[in-house]
Amino acid sequence: MTDLHRLSIREMAEGLKSAQFSSRELTQHYLDRITKLDDRVNSYVTVTPEYALAQADAADNLLKNGTAGTLAGVPLAHKDIFCTQGIKTSAGSKMLDNFISPYDATVVAKAKAAGLVTLGKVNMDEFAMGSTSESSFYGATKNPWNLEHVPGGSSGGSAAVVAADLAPFATGTDTGGSIRQPASFCGLTGLKPTYGRVSRFGMIAFASSLDQGGPMARSAEDCAFLMNTIAGHDAKDSTSINKEVDDYVANLNATAVKGLRIGIPKQYFNVQGLDAEVKARVEESLKTLESMGAILVEIDLNMTEAYVPTYYLIAPAEASSNLSRYDGVRYGYRCENPKDILDLHKRSRSEAFGAEVQRRILIGTYALSAGYYDAYYVKAQKVRRLIQQDFLTVFENVDVIAAPSAPTTAYKIGANLSPTEMYLGDIYTLAVNLAGLPAINAPVGFDKNSLPVGLQLIGNYWSESQLLSIVHQYQQNTDWHTKRAAIAEENA
Ligand code: GLN
Repeated sequence: MTDLHRLSIREMAEGLKSAQFSSRELTQHYLDRITKLDDRVNSYVTVTPEYALAQADAADNLLKNGTAGTLAGVPLAHKDIFCTQGIKTSAGSKMLDNFISPYDATVVAKAKAAGLVTLGKVNMDEFAMGSTSESSFYGATKNPWNLEHVPGGSSGGSAAVVAADLAPFATGTDTGGSIRQPASFCGLTGLKPTYGRVSRFGMIAFASSLDQGGPMARSAEDCAFLMNTIAGHDAKDSTSINKEVDDYVANLNATAVKGLRIGIPKQYFNVQGLDAEVKARVEESLKTLESMGAILVEIDLNMTEAYVPTYYLIAPAEASSNLSRYDGVRYGYRCENPKDILDLHKRSRSEAFGAEVQRRILIGTYALSAGYYDAYYVKAQKVRRLIQQDFLTVFENVDVIAAPSAPTTAYKIGANLSPTEMYLGDIYTLAVNLAGLPAINAPVGFDKNSLPVGLQLIGNYWSESQLLSIVHQYQQNTDWHTKRAAIAEENA
């Protein structure tokens, strides 16, 4: 079969169960596509063919003797921020270019236990800092819809592999939008779960109070399958919540769209820099939801202007602390011939961290330094609480909030935005992480350059099922999520 990559996750799982094809065939199919097409996309940092085929054979055995779980034998790709035992885990950085993880992240371990097959590790902005994937040590990943554009970031590799059909779905992480924005730029569905829903154990830390892993796939249904695998309590992550996990697949039709109250924040649709076509596509998608019975309610989110400054204080502060572990001593890059210990620290860090990571460490260290701590960090924490409060107030009156995921479609590679321009592009995603809420991106059409546009739905805490269900029903009524980039139509 030449078109196995066109199947949904459900169809893949069913095809494996009914022995229409084996996991080895399916896995080899993707490996062949990667060999043929990934030179043009640059989405994989590491491809693991032997490992994948061994996992595929193990899954095929389980499938033969009837003991295979739902997703056994289905391939996936992991963002290179998740530790994988025995496989390089780089976080897109020269710092970890030589790092072979001695253990698996919980997300990776859960995927393995479910019988999923790891095709490899995919590219990302260095330490997940960025919105274009250009800050990777391994070079920019290309947007499959237009190879001259970025796929978004930081989970740009995860988005690109799915959009180019180089993996059926992928894991991503979202600290300030890194699942939703690349999903938006690449025409995919991506879910950022409630903080604490997916274990952060073995997920290389950027900003620990904001980081959260989640699924990136073509449809809400495909995301639901991956969520069923990776969500849940983990004693190894102290911020993981011990709360029952929904069956996201079983709940795909459980939320009534009829009567659903969708909040439309006035401030979000008046943001300077919101592209007219993005606005139009998002409004059209809301019309569709309205025709399905949803009620659109205008709301206020008064703290909108505070999102970017608050996030860009808290995230760098936490990053500066988290990244202090890369000292050239224990693991990671070490400079040549250090004069003394200080020289070792200094040169290892300045030779191996890229410009954006260094910028964040400097900002964060400054904000946390004695004398500035109260003025910056403590103040940002207080504003963070107000931002959360703003959402809680709104959720007394609406079920979900609608917004664009990003103010524009994908930038050109090398557009060379200034840091502030780049940060302003995160306006719609940051507050969700500051408040710890779940949110989803769904593809809702294209601009005149045939680049995808995304709708973001933000839910109250633990409403992942609801978000997936709303998008699933939207996807039963529309076909944006079925559109494929030209490169995905090519055969290996
Ligand atoms: N673009 C944001 C940043 O650069 C968010 C990144 C992320 O979610 N990892 O920090």
